Amino acid sequence: MTAVPCPLCDAPSTAAFTTTDRNRAIGDRAFHYRRCSGCRSYFLVDVPGDLGAYYPRDYLSQPTLAELREEGRREAWRMQIVARHASGGRLVEIGPGNGIFAVQAVEAGFETAVVERDAGACAHLRDTLGIEAVRSDAPEHALAAMAPSRAIVLWHVLEHVAHPWALVDAAGANLEPGGVLVVATPNPRALGLRLLGRRWPHVDAPRHLFLLDHEALAGRARSAGMELVQLTTNDPGGLHWNAFAWHFLLRRPGVAPLADGFAYLGGRAIARVLAPLERRGLRGAAYTAVLRRR
Ligand SMILES: [Zn+2]
Repeated sequence: MTAVPCPLCDAPSTAAFTTTDRNRAIGDRAFHYRRCSGCRSYFLVDVPGDLGAYYPRDYLSQPTLAELREEGRREAWRMQIVARHASGGRLVEIGPGNGIFAVQAVEAGFETAVVERDAGACAHLRDTLGIEAVRSDAPEHALAAMAPSRAIVLWHVLEHVAHPWALVDAAGANLEPGGVLVVATPNPRALGLRLLGRRWPHVDAPRHLFLLDHEALAGRARSAGMELVQLTTNDPGGLHWNAFAWHFLLRRPGVAPLADGFAYLGGRAIARVLAPLERRGLRGAAYTAVLRRR
């Protein structure tokens, strides 16, 4: 078998697991993930040429401004993390989805801009929030052309992009001194991945091209002029993703709402039982890292 170097650091890799699109059941193709012996990250080897087909039309909802504000209030912890490190000035969110964080950024007084691959989502955010929305499949290039910012946020986005380290580099180059990059992403050191392997819902094949090790992220950020100032898997987002993993393990795509309800309750029960293990030593399903520009 030929050696497959890690696309992130070029070190040799070993086969990790083979899986299918378990979360959305789009097609029945097998996807192969490998683990890097150097940076300890996982990567998808056979990225489908039609990756867009794995992001169904319902992937992004288009809530009204009132709905966004309401949803944003329920997730206020996201802005609380950012506000601890940056206030005012310009904020860029890469991959804003339906805008649940962008609305918080606007209301917190940030001059907010987003970079998003979906043209419909861009138009919707421009219309509802009145913010700058740049449509791009290559956020690292889009960011390079944008004005300097105080904060750049990537909520569960870095694992989806083709060149995560190029995006980290572009963030380092764009941030003002003292500005912060906030990254939330699945944790390849998670207890869930160790227990479930290919069945771990945060593998989310083939949409997750990488599971990025936090030390590798901090190392790359350091070369891009940023220092790690906060790292946790126990923020409200991390705890939500713990329960989400067990919920999605128990459900099948397209199940009836009642069955999904039972899977949800079952998932929360498992997360409660495992909390003493999942909440210790960075073993949660997803981590949030804050990196400050020197
Ligand atoms: Zn590597």
